[in-house]
Amino acid sequence: MERSNQLSERIHNFLEGDGKDITSTLPNPLPGYKAVQINKTKIEVTGEKGQLYTIEMKRSRWACNCTGFKYRSTCKHMQMVPQEVRHAREYLTSLKDQVEVILAKFGQYELCGSYRREKATSKDFDYVIACDKAAFNVLRTELEAVGIKIATGKDGGMSGHLADVPIDIFRSDPESFVTMVLWRTGSKENNIALATAAKAKGMQVLRDGVKMPDGTMIHPKTEQEVFDLVGLPYKKPSER
Ligand SMILES: [Zn+2]
Repeated sequence: MERSNQLSERIHNFLEGDGKDITSTLPNPLPGYKAVQINKTKIEVTGEKGQLYTIEMKRSRWACNCTGFKYRSTCKHMQMVPQEVRHAREYLTSLKDQVEVILAKFGQYELCGSYRREKATSKDFDYVIACDKAAFNVLRTELEAVGIKIATGKDGGMSGHLADVPIDIFRSDPESFVTMVLWRTGSKENNIALATAAKAKGMQVLRDGVKMPDGTMIHPKTEQEVFDLVGLPYKKPSER
């Protein structure tokens, strides 16, 4: 594979999150079915007998490849598609203390995503917490004890719902907290700008640190340091 292809694939996976089981985040999944989000526009649905369906976003609408969809332009598999509900910032603010009072006991955390970018609405809570794996498992138990439904994801993350709002919590090692927060804050455009500027200098901005041209990994202590390293002017979250 060409170098440029490798880079664009890496950026793609970096931004989209690949192969995540989203079944537990759906409000009304079909019994026995499983949905895996391949990327933002593609979902693979597995039925109870192992049947596989592909649901793809076409002209801003989800379309299934099953026979039923072809004739009716809808099918039961649409229940396996995530709802793009956006929640007002004020509503999220009213809910977040419930989870943050627990997170605070386990380590440094940050609410990232569009909330941190001070957008008026967000589709989910997107947290990063710096703690070890053992603590992360205890954290899950405590969240479930207060009724926050959690299903483990891959990559050391967990996801579920706080009231009707989806919540993702990503674990990082303490030294990788800054780059993990930077990545989870976005925006997508800002992440691409950082990745592109880094590449021009033979560097990579990764979730666990910044890889220098000689291959050493460094762990910036502030987001400003990352912008400085790749040679971009600092942007505060609301400007990203
Ligand atoms: Zn279908």
